[in-house]
Amino acid sequence: MNHKQALKHPIFETISKSAEELNLDSYVIGGFVRDYLLERGDAKDIDVVAVGSGIELAQQVSKNLPTNPKVQVFKTYGTAMLRYDDIEIEFVGARKESYNEDSRNPIVENGTLQDDQNRRDFTINALALSLNTSNFGELLDPFNGIEDLDKGIIRTPLDPDITYSDDPLRMMRAIRFATQLNFKIEEQSLKAIADNKDRIKIITKERIVTELNKILESDKPSIGFKLLEKTGLLDFILPELTALKGIDEVEGQRHKDNFYHTLEVVDNICETTDNLWLRWAALLHDIGKAPTKKFSKKVGWTFHGHEFVGSKMVYKLFKRLKMPLNDKMKFVQKMVLMSSRPIVLASEVTDSAVRRLVFDAGNNVDDLMTLCEADITTKNPKKFKKYHNNFKVVRDKIVEVEERDKVRNFQPPVSGEEIMKTFNLKPSREIGLIKEAIKEAILEGDIPNEREAALKLMIEKGKKLGLTVAV
Ligand code: ATP
Repeated sequence: MNHKQALKHPIFETISKSAEELNLDSYVIGGFVRDYLLERGDAKDIDVVAVGSGIELAQQVSKNLPTNPKVQVFKTYGTAMLRYDDIEIEFVGARKESYNEDSRNPIVENGTLQDDQNRRDFTINALALSLNTSNFGELLDPFNGIEDLDKGIIRTPLDPDITYSDDPLRMMRAIRFATQLNFKIEEQSLKAIADNKDRIKIITKERIVTELNKILESDKPSIGFKLLEKTGLLDFILPELTALKGIDEVEGQRHKDNFYHTLEVVDNICETTDNLWLRWAALLHDIGKAPTKKFSKKVGWTFHGHEFVGSKMVYKLFKRLKMPLNDKMKFVQKMVLMSSRPIVLASEVTDSAVRRLVFDAGNNVDDLMTLCEADITTKNPKKFKKYHNNFKVVRDKIVEVEERDKVRNFQPPVSGEEIMKTFNLKPSREIGLIKEAIKEAILEGDIPNEREAALKLMIEKGKKLGLTVAV
């Protein structure tokens, strides 16, 4: 079957013509072809293989384009890249690869298209479309990748054991594609991943995190995390999660399996948010439960303080995985730390408790509510409805209280300077005490969040502390 339809963008004509001028063959390969056949929309990344120099082809293409775009050359990899419209095109010379034990960087020789297809990770990523005038648009599919696409199967072109051992990043990629496309990893491949799991150690943390993020950005990340767990990779990458696995039973009392619960929470939150960091928060919200788990005869299983312990673990985990230790990490920490607050509230929604929640969560209060709603995984429909209703009440109350009291981005209605002036004070402990008393009174609802009431309280509190008003 011919797939000229996939190549209707004028850039493909230009590449074809340029290759002809250089007297070499060229092909589009990989993700672009896969996503076209899956009707996943027009990909903006195009990979082109030249049977010859990819760099020279890129330069020729640039010459032939009206914009003469800049060609970025990566000499060490023998690749070149250019941008045209909003498309990024990468050129590589067809190559044959062989590997060393201790590196995922292969020894490279020039090769044929078939050699190049052999080095691809999966049959569905080895599909190529010809750009040559003699058979423009013809699909070259030596491993029957088209059938795997139809059946939804991730399979390696060559022996999976060697494929994964050569470049262990492919194990993460297999699981990532299985998650993104909702495909099955073929049995031999899955076994080879389990057998080679400790090879993941040679992969940089950054690359692992890129794949984890892609899994988390999918519609149903649980597919990926279950595969990571099943193959044993998760123990190497996120042991904090595998520690949540299992159900203990003492004297007939059981707790839920917090690993599978967590995965349900992640899937739930993906239905309502695209925010990657809120998804991370869902993934990590219970990690403090493993180190805090206790059984007592009186109350059964408890996880006291797991939110605090969990938020401390977030920092260590981000650091270990070389993830950003910036406001994103702080956001995840805050979500984990506060993850039980709205739940406590749901049973009795007082104005002051809501004010405190909004004060502490600030602009993240809506994300926190989203996390708590995703945390409802009960299979009892009555309870499910009841818990959601409770949170709806909390959400409504948040809006009502916020409209009236404006504590979301709380600014003290009386400044420290004013307090100093009023009582003729130098910087001292009393100023902090008065400010705290005003804040507390507002949150408790003893006074409204207004300047006049705050000034009055400042005088009262100052007098109680033995201060006199300066004249
Ligand atoms: P996506 O854009 O969703 O990541 P993609 O398939 O385009 O998908 P890239 O990482 O851009 O992914 O890789 C482009 C192509 O290069 C792949 O389709 C595959 O053929 C090949 N490839 C990428 N990484 C590897 C690898 N580690 N081992 C073998 N082949 C790979």
